[in-house]
Amino acid sequence: MAEKLVAVKGMNDLLPEAAATWEWVESRLRDVLARWGYRNMRTPIVEPTALFVRGIGEVTDIVEKEMFSWTDAMNGDALTLRPEATAGMVRAVIEHNALYNGPLRVWQMGPMYRHERPQKGRQREFNQLDVEAFGWPGPDVDAELILMLRAMWRELGLVEGRHVTLEINCLGQPEEREKHRAALIAHFERHADVLDEDAKRRLHTNPLRILDTKNPAMAAVVDAAPKLIDFLGPESRAHFDGLRALLDAAGLAYTVSPRLVRGLDYYGLTVFEWTSTLLGAQSTVCGGGRYDRLVETLGGKPAPGIGFGMGLERLLLILAAAGIEAPAAAPDAYAVVPDAAAMPRVLPLVAALRERGLAIVMHAAAKEGPGSMKSQFKRADASGARVALVFGADELAQGMVAVKPLRDAAAAQRTLPLADLDALVAALRVSLHP
Ligand code: ATP
Ligand code: MG
Repeated sequence: MAEKLVAVKGMNDLLPEAAATWEWVESRLRDVLARWGYRNMRTPIVEPTALFVRGIGEVTDIVEKEMFSWTDAMNGDALTLRPEATAGMVRAVIEHNALYNGPLRVWQMGPMYRHERPQKGRQREFNQLDVEAFGWPGPDVDAELILMLRAMWRELGLVEGRHVTLEINCLGQPEEREKHRAALIAHFERHADVLDEDAKRRLHTNPLRILDTKNPAMAAVVDAAPKLIDFLGPESRAHFDGLRALLDAAGLAYTVSPRLVRGLDYYGLTVFEWTSTLLGAQSTVCGGGRYDRLVETLGGKPAPGIGFGMGLERLLLILAAAGIEAPAAAPDAYAVVPDAAAMPRVLPLVAALRERGLAIVMHAAAKEGPGSMKSQFKRADASGARVALVFGADELAQGMVAVKPLRDAAAAQRTLPLADLDALVAALRVSLHP
């Protein structure tokens, strides 16, 4: 036998059993997005490496050590598999002058790539829902995004405060962060003895990132560090207070977390995370924030923006831990075909019924033949279908099909004519939704 090939480490297959939950979650999220006025947009998985270096920032976990980057052997281009979606969205919006007609609410869903150590809630290929609102300075649109997330949790049966909780912070403006940065550096220099290698390296490049550390040995000195919130001027404060007032008015509880700085360079003013205690160590399911300078940084005409990325694998872990399952998706009918010789007659009939909207799984003959009626009915039952359509030789000879209820023991079997398929579908609908 030839050598078996396996998937790349940290990249997972999705088999049909699990796909049902994914499709359900994705469709619920799409539904909420549509109701909130967000439109779909799609950008490539491969982008120029420079986009992420410039857009995310050189001294970040992602750019320093998590990107799948390579040089295109054909032309020497430096390329990268997208580690997140915002930079690509901004590039596309600039490239197509998409803000020409005014602000824009957009989203996309798809795979992201980060070269991390695979563990629970952390893959090298994972999926995100990415949402962006361009052209509004906020804080009303900040609140809208956060409340849309609450609507998404509720749509899936999750309860905020119980399954997921909201943390917010305000990162202010670059000048305010600069003052805070000087105070931070002074603080960490006084405690240089407890800093780890990452922190030492970041001390003079990006000390804010040190607050993002997951190293417990540094927890005390990070807790005692000067808080950005104390360095905010009146405008930033007003933005933050405005957001808080809107969230309060909507009855959404949150925690203000001074240590919440997010792992990307482009954020300012509002940042937020939804976390879940059901996730263990990788507790953040969704993170986002305002990036009012990013469009300009990437070469566009200045325009404010805010967005978030939601980790869909982590969302599914939360749903599983909360015992929430997708509603069972079963076909309407299972077509039992006792004699494979009847296929030329049955196949087009089943196709025509499917075209009229019925979901039908057809019994396909195995190599040894179609199998006994008993085994076909066993499969029909296992499929979850409400009825079996039995295309027996006798029925077909009379231009009829037998309809056998599979879920309702009290219901009677019926024989219906095949002459008028619209009438047949109408009659079947009665059996399907009694
Ligand atoms: P973390 O602190 O867990 O590394 P992050 O700050 O790097 O997260 P973001 O860049 O904010 O994550 O991405 C948004 C969301 O995408 C995260 O909250 C998480 O749900 C999900 N996510 C990020 N990295 C991964 C990964 N390697 N595997 C699965 N999901 C991920
Ligand atoms: Mg990360």
